[in-house]
Amino acid sequence: MKAKEETLMVENIGNGYRVTNFTKGSEYKVTLVPLNCTCPSFKFRRQCKHIDMVKRIAEKERKEEEQRHKGIAVERTEDLLVLD
Ligand SMILES: [Zn+2]
Repeated sequence: MKAKEETLMVENIGNGYRVTNFTKGSEYKVTLVPLNCTCPSFKFRRQCKHIDMVKRIAEKERKEEEQRHKGIAVERTEDLLVLD
């Protein structure tokens, strides 16, 4: 049996993440610190697919942020080299 496909959207809302499930029409709020999700699954099992998804996205955001900082550092180094 093939698992039912669901369309989930994750939005960073500043103090956490909003996960919208378009297939079910539900919406949950996820925070990583402290680890929490407002869905029933998390209340019972302390884990859910929303948290897994937010963790993946948060990790991706962190890497992108790192890349941006690296990019700025490289540009500054080049500026210094030009001034030399
Ligand atoms: Zn959840």
